[in-house]
Amino acid sequence: MTTATATVTRVRSLPRLAEPLPARSQASDVLLLADRAARRFPAVSERVHRGALLLLAGHVEPLDPHCYGTRWFRVLSQSPARRRRAYTVNTARFTCDCPDFLQGRAPEISGRRLCKHLFAALLWEVTRS
Ligand SMILES: [Zn+2]
Repeated sequence: MTTATATVTRVRSLPRLAEPLPARSQASDVLLLADRAARRFPAVSERVHRGALLLLAGHVEPLDPHCYGTRWFRVLSQSPARRRRAYTVNTARFTCDCPDFLQGRAPEISGRRLCKHLFAALLWEVTRS
């Protein structure tokens, strides 16, 4: 399976945020994808864009699947460094341990609650090979 095919397969298993992008995407592709997702799902447009900024700021770290299992990420918060927190995201189960997710403020799409950390990790998956 080529990398591009693997990426498309992963994307198809998610609630569809937007059309998948080719492998080896650039920062402009991340923003383009975020814009498409935001237009498609206005209720989460702010979280999509914040997720894109987290990704572009290098705040998304995939965790070693051999240690943690598949599709686990650590996503750093946007807070100033002194108060920065790391949240744990799973893009297969659609979970995050941030307050926005746990307290039920993050909106739902297709029955999945989606916070900005989840969007950051989902965008990482869609745009990285
Ligand atoms: Zn979160």
